Amino acid sequence: MKNKIMNKFTKECPDCSKEMSYTSNGGLQSSIKNNRRCRSCSRLGERNPAFGVSYPAWNKGLTKETDKRVAKCAESHKGKIFSDRHKKNISIAKVGTIVSEETKQKMSEVKKVK
Ligand SMILES: [Zn+2]
Repeated sequence: MKNKIMNKFTKECPDCSKEMSYTSNGGLQSSIKNNRRCRSCSRLGERNPAFGVSYPAWNKGLTKETDKRVAKCAESHKGKIFSDRHKKNISIAKVGTIVSEETKQKMSEVKKVK
């Protein structure tokens, strides 16, 4: 086979034993020296640049009355009919969720209006 690239310089990832290939011996040697992990392992958990960084949701604390983007989103969901399968999935996802008395009260109010 003419087009097949031969990866002569290979080593195993120290974490997952996946084969890592290098195009040059120099690249391989520096990888061994620095004990480099494969592409996926090198960004896992605390090694990920986004580890421990959290951004608040853009719509946190906003309602359709106070923000037009939220209002637009709410409008597009109006009158949407969920399939039985979808309803069942939401139900499964909500199992075990602790609902505060205040939230229960709010949900009750919403139901009364309709
Ligand atoms: Zn790995």
